[in-house]
Amino acid sequence: MQAQTLLFVRDTKSFATSVGNLARHLGATHASTVGVVDGLVARGLLRREADPRDRRSTLLRLTDAGRRAADRLERWGHLLGEALAALPVEERGTLERGLGAVIWALRAAGHLEVAEPCRGCAHFRENAAPGSPEPHRCNLLQAFLSEEEARKYCPDFTPAEA
Ligand code: SF4
Repeated sequence: MQAQTLLFVRDTKSFATSVGNLARHLGATHASTVGVVDGLVARGLLRREADPRDRRSTLLRLTDAGRRAADRLERWGHLLGEALAALPVEERGTLERGLGAVIWALRAAGHLEVAEPCRGCAHFRENAAPGSPEPHRCNLLQAFLSEEEARKYCPDFTPAEA
């Protein structure tokens, strides 16, 4: 869960990296998620920061060492991808179908929340402020977003066709 936590903090919108959202992402209890976070904070990989929108809440941030660790994990993921790519096509297809079935089953049972970037979200207004460093707008959060933020994962994603 430590690796998933580092990647969650790196790849999730900066205003959505709460412990509650992390717990839902991990499918873990709040208590065990706090334990994971405390361990990473003690190792100097994560830090807590007051949420500027709600001073009673905190958001998780990577330290420099945490970002390096997350980037190493991603490289490891690419190596795994390369190893899978070396499998014969039929074996890879079987593996992908199996994993897809597991993910759909978990989603259908409500055990897995799939968050996605802004494009395709019902609340997204692309390029609402052209030329600004934060050109996009989220109507749900009533906030402008940079291109980088718009590409990160969001627990409030709502499919546009919903
Ligand atoms: S709710 Fe939708 S538009 Fe707003 S930040 Fe999340 S994904 Fe983007």
